[in-house]
Amino acid sequence: MSLKDRLIRQIRMDGPMPVSAFMQTCLHDPQDGYYANGAGLGRDFITAPETSQMFGELLGLWIVAQWRALGRPDAFNLVEIGGGRGTLMADALRVAARFLPMETLGLLLIEASAELRRIQAEALAGYPVRFIERLEALPGGPTILIANEFLDCLPARQFVREGEVWRERVVGLDAAGALAFGIDRSDLPAEDAAAIPPVSRSGEVEIQPGLDGLVATLAERARRGEAFYALFIDYGPETGTPADTLRAYKDGVQIHPFADPGTADLTVDVDFGRFSKLGAAAGLAVHGPVSQGGFLGALGLQDRLNALIKNNKDRSKALFEEAQKLVAPDGMGTRFKVICLSSNGLPAPAGFGKA
Ligand code: SAH
Repeated sequence: MSLKDRLIRQIRMDGPMPVSAFMQTCLHDPQDGYYANGAGLGRDFITAPETSQMFGELLGLWIVAQWRALGRPDAFNLVEIGGGRGTLMADALRVAARFLPMETLGLLLIEASAELRRIQAEALAGYPVRFIERLEALPGGPTILIANEFLDCLPARQFVREGEVWRERVVGLDAAGALAFGIDRSDLPAEDAAAIPPVSRSGEVEIQPGLDGLVATLAERARRGEAFYALFIDYGPETGTPADTLRAYKDGVQIHPFADPGTADLTVDVDFGRFSKLGAAAGLAVHGPVSQGGFLGALGLQDRLNALIKNNKDRSKALFEEAQKLVAPDGMGTRFKVICLSSNGLPAPAGFGKA
C-alpha cells in the first residue's frame, strides 16, 4: 500500500492531522518516508555543498577559526546534523586538516536516513566518524556544530486566523476521499495560542516546534558550562514570519505536497526571527542572521576562488560560475541566511561582521 493510501486510511480512522504530522510522516515514515528511502539529494534539489567545493572549504576555515576561539582545545566535538552526502564535511575537513591537529577531533554525525548514513560514512572514510541518535546524546566537551539545510526539514504547524481566534490547518479528506487541507474548528489549547507571535496581516503563520527543542537542548548544554558554537544555514524570509510555505520538490520540480507523499522532499521556510528570539530568551549568544553571500564573502570566498582558478585554469569559468551561484544577490546569496548560537563568554564567530 502506498504511503498516500496509508495516510488516507489513517485519517479515515483517526481524523485529520496537523500539517506537522503530515510532514513528519512524509519525511520520516520508517518504511516509505522520503528520508527513509535515501532521499533524492542532488536529483530533487541541489544544495550549496553540492554546488561548489568552495562552500565546504570555507566552512572548514570557519571551523578552524572557532577551534582557535574555543582556546585550541586538545579534544573537541565536531558535529554535523543532516549531512546529506557528506560532501560539506569532506570539503571542510580537507581544509581544516591543514590548520588544526586532526587528533583533537571527535567527528559526530546526526542523520535520520540510514541510506545517507552509509553514504556519509563512505565520504568520510579515514576520519573517526561516529553516528549519534540525537543531540542530547552528545558527549561533553567543547563543540562546533554545523547544519546546512536541516532546519527547513523540521515539521511546521500552520495556524490561520479567523476573526479573533486562531485555528490550526490540518490535512484531512475531501468529499471524494482524497487528501485535502482543512481547518480544525476546535479551540486551540492555550499554550499553542500563546506560541503564536503577534503577527501578520495575512492572518497565517507557520511554527516549527522543533526549533524550540533544539534551542532548549543547546541552552541546557550551555547551563552545564559546555562551550559551543552552533551554525545553521537555511532559507527564510528577510523579515516577518513564514506563512503557508510548505513545498514539495521532486526531480527538481515543485509539485503538490499531496501528489505522491514520501517520494518528494518537503520543506518550509525557516523563521530566523523566532529562532533568534528563542536563543536569546534561553540565554544564548545569537550572531546574525546574515546573508549567505555576506557570510561567505567575509570568510574569503574571493581569495579561495582566485586560488582555485590559479591552479585549475581550464576550469576557471565553471569555478567562477559556482562561486557566483553561492552568493547571487537574487538567489542563494540572499535567500539563504546564516545564524550562529553560542554559549556565552566566547569571541564572536567569524563571518558575522565586526569581530
Ligand atoms: N546538509 C546537506 C543535506 C541537506 S538535506 C547538504 O547541504 O547537502 C537535509 C538533511 O537533513 C538530510 O541529510 C536529511 O536526511 C537530514 N534530516 C532531515 N531531518 C532530520 C532529522 N530530524 N534528524 C537528522 N537528520 C535529518
